[in-house]
Amino acid sequence: MTRVYNFGAGPAMLPTAVMEKAQQEFLDYDGMGASVIEISHRSKEFGAIINASDALLVELANIPENYKILYVHGGAQMQFSAVPMNLINRLTHRKAAYVESGNFAKLAHKEAARYGDISVVANSEANNYDCIPALDMAALDPQSSYAYITSNNTIYGTRWQQFPDTGDIPLVADMTSEFLSRTLDINQFGIIFAGLQKNLGPAGLALVLVREDLLQYALPETPNLLNYKTYADKHSLANTNNTFAIYMMKLVLEWLKEQGGIAAVESQNEAKAALLYDAIDSSEFYLGTAQTAHRSTMNVTFNLANNELLDEFLDQALTQGLYALKGHRNVGGVRASIYNAMPMAGCQALADFMQEFANSHA
Ligand SMILES: *Cc1c(COP(=O)(O)O)cnc(C)c1O
Repeated sequence: MTRVYNFGAGPAMLPTAVMEKAQQEFLDYDGMGASVIEISHRSKEFGAIINASDALLVELANIPENYKILYVHGGAQMQFSAVPMNLINRLTHRKAAYVESGNFAKLAHKEAARYGDISVVANSEANNYDCIPALDMAALDPQSSYAYITSNNTIYGTRWQQFPDTGDIPLVADMTSEFLSRTLDINQFGIIFAGLQKNLGPAGLALVLVREDLLQYALPETPNLLNYKTYADKHSLANTNNTFAIYMMKLVLEWLKEQGGIAAVESQNEAKAALLYDAIDSSEFYLGTAQTAHRSTMNVTFNLANNELLDEFLDQALTQGLYALKGHRNVGGVRASIYNAMPMAGCQALADFMQEFANSHA
């Protein structure tokens, strides 16, 4: 069996060691004679799994005590609804401020507009989102119940290098494509959420960190299973949760700890991204699509100067075990998603291939 280097944006590759561990104990979890997917979410064994996941998250991400860790059904986009339902009523005017730095931000804004009065306070759509738009704090209405950003723009390959200080207005961040890839000060945020399928585990579930004082504002019509307070009160087990996804995430967190934690992984991620950005910048053959100062370390986007060679590039890459490099249809070109699980050797293989391909088509 050969495993490809999987550059897919999500669901994305997971560390091989994690996949092997899951495989090893799949039929017989912890000597129980049953699989982890066959045991009760209320069993003591599953309780130990979710507790271990919480403890690892607190340790790795340095999560302060006044934040709750929630495992919420429905993936990242379900949070596009849950965030306004839980927070837009913090102040009576039901206003919120959104930064539109990409397609997911735009979708989040559209969904939030069903629940209140949304203003887009910065927008880079006119540039096809090739940068993070500058946010003028004066544009932020102090009556905003929250301000919303997408920390890493998966489709466009941009990220916030530094996060805005929104003062008393809680900052909400969609960190789906980068949570646990870089060190953070959690205190800068009111809510952080991330769908699992990029850096954390399988699809279908979102990890949500919410500051405790923000748990009291849910709109009365909020479905019980989208109300963060339900999750906080019931340790995410008000109903049967996705136990397998939580178990997989726990394995990913154990792996992250073995790698030396987030700071160690962050410097690896920077080195991995640098390999690819160097390959782009050192050749006229390739053109980066994101503005240099805004480049992501997780999603590297570029075009071939001669776009007619794109299909050949992708086909040849695949024959070399470099999988899922096609860019998102909104940008075209190539996108290499290099989350925590992508080894340096995968980025090196892609950088080498880029050079060979350029040489043979010069
Ligand atoms: C992938 C992604 C999403 C969508 O996640 P779903 O789980 O499919 O809803 C949302 N936001 C960002 C930043 C993403 O990268």
